[in-house]
Amino acid sequence: MTDKLTIPRIPAANSFSAAPVDRASHLRKDARWLSQALRHEDARFLPLSEGRALASNATAPQPCMLDSKQARSIGVTTERLTFLGLWEDRAIFAFEALDTEMGKLASHGEFMDLYSLAKSLDSNTSAVLAYAKGVLLWQQRHPYCSRCGEPVGFELGGHMLACSNPDCGKHQFPRLDPAIIVLVEDGDRCLLGRQATWPAQRYSTIAGFVEPGEALEDAVIREVYEETGVRVHSPRYHSSQPWPFPSSLMLGFSATASSSEIRLIDDELEDARWFTREELTSGIIKLPRSLSISYRLIQDWHDARPGPRLTELHTW
Ligand SMILES: [Zn+2]
Repeated sequence: MTDKLTIPRIPAANSFSAAPVDRASHLRKDARWLSQALRHEDARFLPLSEGRALASNATAPQPCMLDSKQARSIGVTTERLTFLGLWEDRAIFAFEALDTEMGKLASHGEFMDLYSLAKSLDSNTSAVLAYAKGVLLWQQRHPYCSRCGEPVGFELGGHMLACSNPDCGKHQFPRLDPAIIVLVEDGDRCLLGRQATWPAQRYSTIAGFVEPGEALEDAVIREVYEETGVRVHSPRYHSSQPWPFPSSLMLGFSATASSSEIRLIDDELEDARWFTREELTSGIIKLPRSLSISYRLIQDWHDARPGPRLTELHTW
């Protein structure tokens, strides 16, 4: 008798994840190599401005990747560059555009928010932009030392901020805000909620930030209860998604309800309800955007039963 082969279910990559870049962190330490970045013939340079990427003016805009000559002509200097890694053997850098550079950059395109731009990007490109946006927003939000208040400078190719005060010398590293997001199921129903500021009829899975001293599973149980009054057990990890709006890491779970009465305890949600599979696609609510992990959680729950797939039934 042969044992039946069980293949573990591996979720497909979420949007903004699985960046194709080899981060090549050993090169971040190579000061000589980094100092020559603007002379690297095959290197490419991504301009960003406050989290937006410079994109071509086109029906399906793509991010502008400047070559070294173009980057130098704009006035970019090596010490402003962040080394993202190697992409198809090219060194990829990102930099925050200065106000004085906007005129020259305008000839290449316009700055667009990643959320809007993602519609026209393949998964690799959107993942690289999310990576660049995450690092540059962190740099922008930490221009001064958190210990002594003096300005900081880039080290390790922009992946470390070092205090300029020699008596301090504090190092800062990129920060992420872990947040759980969970599909709660109760038999043939799932629990979704909406915030008052969202577009009308938009519902999504329950989410919230992880607190200090809290395991992810604890955060799932706490957040669902605080936002909806529903008790859950058995949180099960699904997948994760970088969410650089501005610095979240979404950690997706499913969980099973052990109670069903809804009470909006902490007022974060305007409404929360149980929905059947049929109700999800009946048009009475709008689901989250397809690039979000929330949609993926709903999709996988919906499609776990035989029948038409969510993508066949749902139109935005
Ligand atoms: Zn300092």
